[in-house]
Amino acid sequence: MDDVFIIGAGPAGMATAIQLMRYGINPRVFEKSRPGGLLLNANWVENYPGFPYGISGTDLADIFIEQTKTITITQEPVIELSWKDGFYNIVTPIMNYQAKFAVIASGTKPKLLTGFSVSDKVKNNIVYDLEEIKDQSRKKMIVVGSGDIAFDYALNLAKENSVIILNHSDQPKCLKRLYKQAEEHQNITYFPQTRIETVEKSFEGDMIVECSSPFGLKQFRSDYIVGAIGRDPQIDYILSSVMSHTAEFEKKGILHFVGDVKNGLFRQAAIAIGDGIRAGMLIHQSIEENEHESRRIHK
Ligand SMILES: Cc1cc2nc3c(=O)[nH]c(=O)nc-3n(C[C@H](O)[C@H](O)[C@H](O)COP(=O)(O)OP(=O)(O)OC[C@H]3O[C@@H](n4cnc5c(N)ncnc54)[C@H](O)[C@@H]3O)c2cc1C
Repeated sequence: MDDVFIIGAGPAGMATAIQLMRYGINPRVFEKSRPGGLLLNANWVENYPGFPYGISGTDLADIFIEQTKTITITQEPVIELSWKDGFYNIVTPIMNYQAKFAVIASGTKPKLLTGFSVSDKVKNNIVYDLEEIKDQSRKKMIVVGSGDIAFDYALNLAKENSVIILNHSDQPKCLKRLYKQAEEHQNITYFPQTRIETVEKSFEGDMIVECSSPFGLKQFRSDYIVGAIGRDPQIDYILSSVMSHTAEFEKKGILHFVGDVKNGLFRQAAIAIGDGIRAGMLIHQSIEENEHESRRIHK
């Protein structure tokens, strides 16, 4: 039996773990892929205090990982989180686990690209996570989206590839600074009001991407399409025995949502970390109070 489960080893989960370790509480952190979370996709982080000249997302994630190296990370995906008889139960493909406190730090999942037809032969070339294509070079990439993540992805990919950004609407939603950088980048071309209609495999092995635009149909060639049209909370694994009691469990201090999973549009590393530190402090407070109470009863 563990005291605390943390689901997700992104910035929020790692910060919770760091704070708990300060109190001598060793949480069980579950991570389905690599610790670091979405930061591993971030090209350049300019607003994380302590790095006046900015830092790449992967370098920042590495620093967090270094700081959490004494924490054991259970590298298993959580398939189910439920609650019964006063304990949380976690099911992974390997084992079942039990604990008294749960910290949901599982971040977000990408909204999937829809509204166009895709040949089965190229379905795997539509991706949402840069980790999957980070080693590609001299490829033709299409990024779909218009927010900070879409432009950050484009700038990252454009170091080694040629990139087209397709935006459905006429205005980008990203920071002006990111738009300007993309506009000035020789490997990036931006097309507003352009919507994918069909994706087919070409004879040469890449994709033929046909799009509608105010100027009629456009055809692009591409090796990969990267979806960056928004994100939703990643909470599919939480069963109704937890979901239908979240307010009650949060009030009791036994359930904490931290980071992007609950922050809506305010999805930033520093906010996720603040949430994690706070959750760690609250859990410590609850454990102390419970111990104090049980000492009082057994006197
Ligand atoms: C391209 C890009 C650029 C960005 N730039 C900036 C920036 O400049 N400044 C800034 O502050 N922020 C930036 N961000 C946002 C920042 O990365 C996030 O706010 C931060 O990573 C959120 O941390 P988190 O721990 O809440 O979630 P995440 O980082 O998403 O971590 C969640 C973790 O949970 C794991 N997980 C999910 N489900 C399960 C499960 N069922 N079982 C086990 N593990 C699970 C995931 O694998 C992941 O590792 C950027 C993000 C992107 C994508």
